[in-house]
Amino acid sequence: MSYIEQLRVEPGAKVDLRKIDAAWKGEHDSHEHAAPEIEEATRKLRELQFLLYAENKRALLIVLQGRDAAGKDGTINHVLGAMNPQGCTVTGFKVPSKEEAAHDFLWRYHKAAPAKGQVAIFNRSHYEDVLVVRVHELVPKEVWSKRYDHINAFERMLADDNVHILKFYLHIDPDEQLKRFKARIDDPTRHWKISDSDYAERPFWDDYTAAFEDAIGKCSTAQAPWFIIPSNHKWFRNLAVSKIVSEYMDSLGMKFPPPSVDIEAIRKKYHALAN
Ligand code: ADP
Repeated sequence: MSYIEQLRVEPGAKVDLRKIDAAWKGEHDSHEHAAPEIEEATRKLRELQFLLYAENKRALLIVLQGRDAAGKDGTINHVLGAMNPQGCTVTGFKVPSKEEAAHDFLWRYHKAAPAKGQVAIFNRSHYEDVLVVRVHELVPKEVWSKRYDHINAFERMLADDNVHILKFYLHIDPDEQLKRFKARIDDPTRHWKISDSDYAERPFWDDYTAAFEDAIGKCSTAQAPWFIIPSNHKWFRNLAVSKIVSEYMDSLGMKFPPPSVDIEAIRKKYHALAN
């Protein structure tokens, strides 16, 4: 069974994150063992992104969510490392600016959606509006509780317009998060990554669990599925995300566009020049 099938959340599923082992490694026992498969997935991803760019008919939106230190930046680094920067955008979403907050909640996300031929990666996303916003009651329940439907409608509209959407929840457990916080404290080159909010959010672990479970369960749809990626092992996370993205892109049956010129005539012109 592929990771697409194993890790995809079926529409309407009741998600229980506590039952999902964040340290799962698939069929591999170590990074070394998985390394050839990671390399192959990276190679495929590069080829398929080139094809998406050349075909210029559809777009891909990759949504990354997870708790602090779950590895959103590391995943982007890995997935993007396989891609031609000309065909990719990465947008991080932080606390909304004054201008963003003055608009409807989807406005800033829609602006960052990918154009045809492009891959867009969202580092945090429209889901923050049913995660941090819900946990800290930044708007009343009657407002955020309607957003699941708004999000599904937004994603359906994008999908109908040839934007393919894959959403990844990077799943770590509380011990792993603490280990990563410690590693950041011990490494001066990563001090810049530490934020007060990492520590402020930790006591809300269970509230976030409930918010993630609802968001994933209510918004995993056929056209925009959620995948829960066991992410305690960074190499497994990278393997799973790149395999899911590449296998999904492979299934689209993309084709290089036909040439816009008469290749035989061009070949003759070339030979005339070269001789
Ligand atoms: P990183 O994404 O690397 O963790 P920051 O440490 O600056 O970056 O965190 C961004 C912060 O912005 C997070 O605490 C996140 O919850 C918050 N945020 C993102 N979207 C929203 C939103 N719509 N409303 C309120 N806060 C948000």
